[in-house]
Amino acid sequence: MNEKIQMVDLKNQYLRIKEEIDQSLLSAVAETAYINGPQVKAFIESLKSFNRVQHAVTCGNGTDALQIAMMGLGFKPGDEVIVPAFTYIATVEVIALLGLIPKFIDVRPDTFELDYEQLESKITDKTVGIVPVHLFGQCSNMEAINAIAAKYGVSVIEDTAQAMGAEYIYADGHKQFAGTVGTIGTTSFFPSKNLGCFGDGGALLTNDETLAQRVHMIANHGQRQKYHHESIGVNSRLDTVQAAILNVKINHLHEYARARQAVAAKYDSSLDDIKGISIPVRANYSTHVFNQYTCKIANNRRDAFKAFLQERGVPSMVYYPIPVHLQQAYGQYGYNEGDFPVSEQLCRDVISLPIHTEMKEEIQDYIIEQVKAFFTDEH
Ligand SMILES: *Cc1c(COP(=O)(O)O)cnc(C)c1O
Repeated sequence: MNEKIQMVDLKNQYLRIKEEIDQSLLSAVAETAYINGPQVKAFIESLKSFNRVQHAVTCGNGTDALQIAMMGLGFKPGDEVIVPAFTYIATVEVIALLGLIPKFIDVRPDTFELDYEQLESKITDKTVGIVPVHLFGQCSNMEAINAIAAKYGVSVIEDTAQAMGAEYIYADGHKQFAGTVGTIGTTSFFPSKNLGCFGDGGALLTNDETLAQRVHMIANHGQRQKYHHESIGVNSRLDTVQAAILNVKINHLHEYARARQAVAAKYDSSLDDIKGISIPVRANYSTHVFNQYTCKIANNRRDAFKAFLQERGVPSMVYYPIPVHLQQAYGQYGYNEGDFPVSEQLCRDVISLPIHTEMKEEIQDYIIEQVKAFFTDEH
């Protein structure tokens, strides 16, 4: 391979829409309304209509979005929030920062989502929220989660950072976008997410008007009216220039999802019958937008597989190598090795292969060839 293979190809994605982006960006720069400019307002409208949701509030990043959601819901120190042990750290970090107690739950070995069958047993009289993480681009089982949440009167915060554009499929067949099925959804526009800007950005989605107003206020120093601070807030904004980029890219989001799905389908058909590697399982209650194409490698050979690929110029990533309950920073919550066996095993087995909107046929063929070589050759 002459070309350096990448996990995600932001350069070619940009070049394909360069004129549109440059024009939008330059006019935002020239207009000089750098904070809350018209591009931000336009993006909020696009985000709402894309997701078919009543309210969208933009903010500085996906981590802030989670924090603002929990502040907006009025969670108080000592309250418990149920969160998967196998997730990106941001999901848990904000819980701890707000003085809430993370109550970890194991995940399902096939779809990597929180194990909704264990969910009810985690609810106590202190539980205020559940945070399903739509990991790698596929929705959690929202009907199961919402039913338990409704039974106990707790809120559901969907961490949709990796699943913008995925659709939850109800048992009756109708669909709703990820992040609009629970009480509130949070997302990130980090460059490598499915809808990425050229820096940091985030948003919250909800159909609850009162909650939308509260999170909007909290993201804006706790004020509805300038210099009148109703509650303690934060300063978390989506920059006008980032909104100018997102206004262009959101029009390509469906096409980006299709491009990722095509790459995934090709990996699926090429790798499905290879012994030793398990391809990602598709839930029947969600579409999958493949922020990551995450496989499982059997027999503790994941690290050897990763090294083999690397030697042949194929990058790969381990999302995530350590479950949250075993991270040093979260030792204070008193969890131990063995508490969440599925999460712990996944941290040993998972590996994500390159997937993005610009994948070339011959590059993917090469990647597949190397993957097959590891499992079929002797070494
Ligand atoms: C990326 C990500 C976040 C955080 O988003 P940032 O914009 O980087 O703050 C939160 N949760 C999950 C699952 C993510 O993948």
